[in-house]
This record gives sequence, C-alpha cells and structure tokens, in this order.
Amino acid sequence: MDNKISRRIALGLLGVVVVLVLVFFLSDFRGNETEAFSYKAGTYTAEAKGFNGNVKVKVVLNNDEIVSVEILEHNETEAIGGNAMEAIADRIVKEQSLAIDAVSGATISCKAVLAAVEECIKKAGGNVAALKEKKDDQSNVNIVKMSTDVVVVGAGGAGSSAAVTAQEYGAKVVLLEKNAVPGGTTAMGGGLFGANSSLMEENGEEPIDIDALFQDWMKEMAWKADANLIRKFLELSTTTIDWLIDHGFEIHKSPPIQQTHDAYHGYHKYDDFTKTTQHFIKMLEDFEEKGGQVFYETPARKLIVDESGAVVGVIAEKKDGTILEISAKSVVIATGGFVGAEEWVQETLGGVFVEGAGLVSNVGDGIKMAWEIGAAHRGENVHLLHVTKIPGDLSMYPATSRLVNSSLAYLPINPWVNAAGERFANEDIIYDRALTTNAVVAQGNFVYTVFSQNMLDTLEEKGAAALGMQDKVAMGPIEELTPMNAPWTNLNAMVNELIKQGVAFKGDTYQELARNAGMDVDKFVKSMKRYNEDAEKGKDTLFGKRKEHMVPLGDGPYYAFKVVPTNLCTLGGIRVNSDLQVVRNDPDSYKPIPNLYAAGADAGGLYSDHYVLLEGGAMSWAYNSGRLAGASAASNALNIEIDLFSQ
Ligand SMILES: Cc1cc2nc3c(=O)[nH]c(=O)nc-3n(C[C@H](O)[C@H](O)[C@H](O)COP(=O)(O)OP(=O)(O)OC[C@H]3O[C@@H](n4cnc5c(N)ncnc54)[C@H](O)[C@@H]3O)c2cc1C
Repeated sequence: MDNKISRRIALGLLGVVVVLVLVFFLSDFRGNETEAFSYKAGTYTAEAKGFNGNVKVKVVLNNDEIVSVEILEHNETEAIGGNAMEAIADRIVKEQSLAIDAVSGATISCKAVLAAVEECIKKAGGNVAALKEKKDDQSNVNIVKMSTDVVVVGAGGAGSSAAVTAQEYGAKVVLLEKNAVPGGTTAMGGGLFGANSSLMEENGEEPIDIDALFQDWMKEMAWKADANLIRKFLELSTTTIDWLIDHGFEIHKSPPIQQTHDAYHGYHKYDDFTKTTQHFIKMLEDFEEKGGQVFYETPARKLIVDESGAVVGVIAEKKDGTILEISAKSVVIATGGFVGAEEWVQETLGGVFVEGAGLVSNVGDGIKMAWEIGAAHRGENVHLLHVTKIPGDLSMYPATSRLVNSSLAYLPINPWVNAAGERFANEDIIYDRALTTNAVVAQGNFVYTVFSQNMLDTLEEKGAAALGMQDKVAMGPIEELTPMNAPWTNLNAMVNELIKQGVAFKGDTYQELARNAGMDVDKFVKSMKRYNEDAEKGKDTLFGKRKEHMVPLGDGPYYAFKVVPTNLCTLGGIRVNSDLQVVRNDPDSYKPIPNLYAAGADAGGLYSDHYVLLEGGAMSWAYNSGRLAGASAASNALNIEIDLFSQ
C-alpha cells in the first residue's frame, strides 16, 4: 500500500472514530440529562460537614426541576464561607447541576453545600451521577476576542502602577479589576516607605542609608530572602513617592507610627487615607484618556498558554457573563494575595486560625492561575499579621464597644498568658502591631489578657495613665486607642456582656479563673505568682518589660479576655526573579515562564517567614514592584530596553 492511500485510510478511520465518540458522548449526555431531571417532588433537608461544623440545607424539588436551595444553618465565617455558600446554592438552581466548582477560599464550606444537596437529591430518587456530569450550557456565552501588548490583572497598588508604567513606555495596556473600584487593599492603608523623596529634601532630612537598611533587612531575614529583589526595591523606592505625587496622590512626610518600627525615617503618609480610592480613580482615568483600557467587575479567570508553555494572554469574565479572550505579549499578575481564603491561610500557618481583616475578596486568584501553569511557589507562609482584638458582639454599646474590642487588647500594664495559662511576652511589644500579632499567632488561635477588678475599675473611672501606663497607643487614624486620662465608659457592663458570650472569664481566685477559662491551673497560678513578685520588685525577670508597666494585680476577682489575631494581607505565593518574571517550579534553573510577571502581594521573595519591621514596607512594595513589573512587561512586549533607575 502506498503512503498516500494508507494515510487516507487512517484519516477515514479516525473520522469514523471521532463521529462514534461524539455520538456516544451526545447520547450518553442526553440520556443522563433526562434521568437527572426526574425527582420525587417535595421538600428535603440534609446536613454535611463544613469548616466550622455542619451545614444544613433545604432543597425544594419539582418532578423535573431543582426549585430552590436554602442554607438553613451553618457556623461558617459569614464574610467568607457564608457568602460563598449562598453563591453555590444560587448556581445549583440556575444551572440545575451539581457540577459546580467551589468558590476559591471557601472550598470546604462550598463542598458541604454540594454534599448536603446531593443527599437531598438522593432522597428524592434523582440521578446524582448525571447531575455531577452536567456542565454549563456554553452555547449562549458571548466571547469577545481582543489583543494588546500588556494585560495587567488587578487594579490595586501593584497592578495600577504596573499598568501606568507600561503605558508610560509606549505599551498598549488592558487592566482587569475584579471589584467595581480600583485601589484594592492599597487604598485601605495609611502610608508607605520611600527611601528618599523631594519631601524629605525639602524638610532638610538626611538621605536614608540604603546600604545599611539592606544589610539590616537581610540580617532580619537571616539571608533567606531574595537579595537582588530587595536591593532593587529599596533603590527604586527613592523615586516612587515623587512618581505617585506626579500621578495625583497627596502625600506628606511623617514620623513612623509604631514606636519599634523607627529604625529608618522613610515613612510617608497619605494626607487623607479616605481619599486614596479617588486618587486611584483619577490616575486610571488619565490612563484611559491616553488609550489604556480598564475593565471593572471583570475578574481574570485563566492564563492562556501556547504549546511551548509561553503565556500569550488571559481569559476574563465580565459581570454580564461575557468572556474576554485577550491575547497579549506580556501579562502581569497583581491580584493582592489570598487574605480572604482563611482556610488556605490556616494551612500556611500550621493550622492556626487567623481572621482576614483586609480585602477579603482577595482569594489568591492570580497565585492559583500562575501555579496552575507550573509557576514556582515562594513565601505563601508570610502574612501581614498586624492587628489583634477581643472578639464578641458589643453592638449594643455602639459608642464605647471599641474600648473593649480593641483598646483592652492594647494595654501593656497587665500580664498576657497563652491558652495554657503561661505568660509568653514582654507586653511592651504592644507598641508594635506586627510584633504583637506575631507573638499571639506563635501561641495558637488565641491568648488571654488578664486584669483584676481593681484595674478595670480604675480604667472605667480614670483611664490608663492612672494604672501607670507611660505612652498611649495610636492606631492609624485613631490618635489615642488607649485613652490615658479619660474614663473608659461602660467598661464593666461590657465586660459582663462578654462573660455571657464566653469571650471573657471571671474568677474570685487565680485558680477559679484558670478553671473557668480552661487553662492549666498550676501553670497559670505560677505565672501570676512570678509576675506579681516581679512587679512588686519592679523588675521583669522573664521578658524585661519596663518597670513602670509591671503593675501588681492586687486582690481578685480576676478576669481573662480572649485576644485573637487578624491578618491584613498575605505577602507571597509566586516565585519571581529580580525582573519580576514568574519562574517555573524547577529549582535546578528557575527559568522564567515566558511573558509572565507578578507583583505586589502575589509575589514572594522579600521575607523569610515574617514581615520586616519597616514602617510602610508592604504598600511600598506594591507600588515599587508594580513599577518594576510594568517596565519589564513593556520591555518584553515592545522589545525595547527600559531602565527605571536612570531617571
Ligand atoms: C486595613 C489595612 C491597612 C494597611 N495599612 C498599611 C500601611 O499603612 N502601610 C503598608 O505598608 N501596608 C499596609 N497594608 C498592607 C498593604 O496595603 C498591602 O500589602 C498592599 O497594598 C497590597 O497591594 P497589592 O497591589 O498587592 O494588592 P491590592 O491593593 O489588594 O490589589 C489587588 C487588586 O487585585 C484585584 N483582584 C483580585 N483578584 C482579581 C482577579 N481575578 N482579576 C482581577 N482583579 C483581581 C483586587 O480586587 C484588588 O483591587 C494595610 C492593609 C490593610 C488591609
């Protein structure tokens, strides 16, 4: 047989096989579809295990339709699991299917809903297997194809800076944003580090010694961080404050807010942080006027990769369901990390639960997209653990609830103990939120702050100075979080409310308090004995707290309040090189994935396992890494040399 004939026969056979396979799939699908849409009509309930306990659902079925799915009971975190479960319930009804992907960041909660609905379908005699096969009908989806030089995913600090920078070097840029406004987490913060700025020069301040700062940084990270990346970041930060001012941001020079973050004097604050979103909007309106395109409420879903493994674009989805298929020469990922994915955060912290207190719609979309195509991991265990609080609902005291939920957790004049009842910190670290939250997380899910009745009464009547507190604690825009010379109104009434809610505990003796709070009685009694003895002598023999803050507790009753940590932002995930190129998960070479860049909280490498003690470092990284990634992306797309440092 000659080659042409055998090739034709082979093609013919292939054609027959394809047709048979299609017929098989179509008939199989239709067959399943008919069976799947047959139920014993009625109302069914079922439960399945979620993240914090059982999730109970109610499903109403017609003979041929899932009419409704309602979440009856659950203990999931409302902002994360709660919202995601409602979304899954809606989709089950809309798509008449159980083949629904879990919402990222709330996988366990979503799977619980799916499992409970499955149980209801089973009870009604429905074909679960077929419902799990059934996919969306894609035939009506509107797909719009576009092409550009650079696509940036995420319009927060990093993404907006990347998009504007790429445009400044001549690239045609499309910017995708999941939310309705730009700014992301970056618009929630107070200020940023800049190694030098015209503002500092105008003030006659000495320039910052970048060499010394670099050495300190590397030492703090024990050199388990990317030295080139850090060096570039610090050097570029000398121009970034002015770059932001040129783009309409209103910024002034400020001393550091946190007393122990004061080694370097490069902290700059927004004049009014409530206006930062407006500054982002204005910067991006200018960007659009110059030909850039911004799509709000349009999350990126997937990277497009060609057969060689190079990234060649992005798939995104508009609010109306339209799919954007955007071909691009470079793609920058800047989706702000995964603070909203609490289960994922918990995994990276060895099981310790830390509530997300930042932009909880940041659930790691960009990190997952990059990992999906083979990007290396770096730094997903690093978090901006930066705030602690006493939980509990004091909404019945709207004017004073902060005094307990926040202020009481920020006092250094009393002992803190862990869940076992052992003192674990020099309580003066309260003046630095990173140190405090790190110390709490190192103990587990919560710690206790301990007071005597006499101390609470003094706070309620006179304020913290009467207990010997030397310096007030400030937090962001709150000038005096711990009122020093003003009464802490309603304090005892609010404390009693928290005791009812199981957040605070009371005991006439240390033994009784330890038992009520579930501590190890011996450990707690010993800890209190040593603390009181040290306080009487005016010397903290364990952790070296200043003597003025070593206040003996005196007589009971005593109180212990639960203090929990929160997380403002995650600080890593994707491994990048010093050009902000995403690299492959191959430690032999860490070769770049062609055309792909990452910036901001999605990119790891600055830290070993904790945030550096540099005031404004995280936000500064967002803008600076965005500028670096935008320049690299434009340089790649346009095939030109760009040197940001020669300006
Ligand atoms: C309350 C608070 C205060 C803070 N204060 C400070 C401070 O004073 N100084 C400091 O240094 N740091 C501070 N931080 C931390 C700092 O703000 C962040 O680390 C930094 O701004 C992160 O920037 P980013 O650009 O990486 O992320 P973001 O600014 O969050 O930007 C990410 C953007 O991507 C979007 N996005 C997510 N997924 C998708 C998707 N699939 N498609 C398209 N878009 C998507 C998001 O909606 C968001 O707009 C604070 C954080 C919080 C929460």
